This record gives sequence, C-alpha cells and structure tokens, in this order.
Amino acid sequence: MRRDGPSMTEAGGAAGQNERVSSGRSDTVMNRGNRLCLDCGKNTLENNEDYYFLRNRLWRILVPREERHGMLCRACVEHRLGRPLASQDFGSAATEDESDPDPEDQPMKRDDYGIIDLLTPEMLHAIDTAMIEFLSSGPRKITAVVRYMLEESSAAIAGLPDWFYMDRIGELIEDCELVVVAEGEEQRFHVVAAADGPSAGR
Ligand SMILES: [Zn+2]
Repeated sequence: MRRDGPSMTEAGGAAGQNERVSSGRSDTVMNRGNRLCLDCGKNTLENNEDYYFLRNRLWRILVPREERHGMLCRACVEHRLGRPLASQDFGSAATEDESDPDPEDQPMKRDDYGIIDLLTPEMLHAIDTAMIEFLSSGPRKITAVVRYMLEESSAAIAGLPDWFYMDRIGELIEDCELVVVAEGEEQRFHVVAAADGPSAGR
C-alpha cells in the first residue's frame, strides 16, 4: 500500500500557500474508495508487504496526477517501474523533509492531485453543506468532521484525501460559516461549530 499523499497533519494547502496548517505526522485516515490497487484491484490493506512509503519523486514519476490519490500494490509498482524496488526507492519522514534539495521529493501538495481538478462547484457546495449540517447538532473536533466525511457522508467524493476536507473546514472558518469554539493543541483538534447552530456562542 502506498499512503495516499499528505496526511491530515501535513495539510496539503493550496497552490503557492506556504503555511502549513499544523505540524507533525500521522497516517492518513483511509478512504474506503481508494485502498484498492489502481492496476490489479487487489485490496492493499490485506497484505503487510503492500504497506510501504515510496519516495515522492518516484510516486510522481510512476503515477499521473489524476491517479495519485490512489494506491498501488508492490507488485504493480514494480511492474510500472520495470524493475524490483530497491532501498533507495523507499521514503521516510526524513526524505520528505521540506528542505530536501530535490524538488520532486517535496511533500505531496494539492497541485499533485488531479482529482481535485474534477470537483465541480456543486460537489464543493455539497461537501460544505454536509459538514455544516453534521455540526448543526453541536460542536465537534475537526478530526471528527473529517472522519464523518470519509466514512459516512454521501457528499464525500471517493478518493479525496482527508486534508482536502481539512482545507475546506479552514475556508468555512474564514468565511464565518463555522466558528472555532475551543482551540486544540493543533488546528485539527480545534472544536468547531456551525455559526448559526447551538453552542456557537452567538
Ligand atoms: Zn496491484
């Protein structure tokens, strides 16, 4: 399995946006829709040998933008690559450091994901509305809203990574559709509420 891009804590961010929402790393909350190997359809969560982190440089070469939110099993990576994987092909937190001199090894960003180009204003509106409605019953942590979107909401788009929803929540806060009612240690642990919902402090 290949981790599908930046995790929630890496917060993809818009093009040219240097600010990171928060620091630290954690594994991405898996989206049910994109755990299957892009090439053979195998469930990449079922086999430990399919759990690995390719260098971002290699992932960018092997996988076109519109497929990058997905997963590849190890055998299919090697098939695309035309040779067995070697130790230098694997990434780690260290090789994905932002100070890495190779720009192709930089952390995956929003621009790396073609799936985001396919979103229509209607899809975005449905996503925003679903998150606001989820919060209409009361404040929740941002991580809970993202989890709800990934696991339950019919407005979610299969393959969209968790940080995409994080970004939308950030925009809804800026637009005063959502309000932060309690700050967590990191932004993703902030408790947010619908601006016109209960407990929003208005
Ligand atoms: Zn495969």
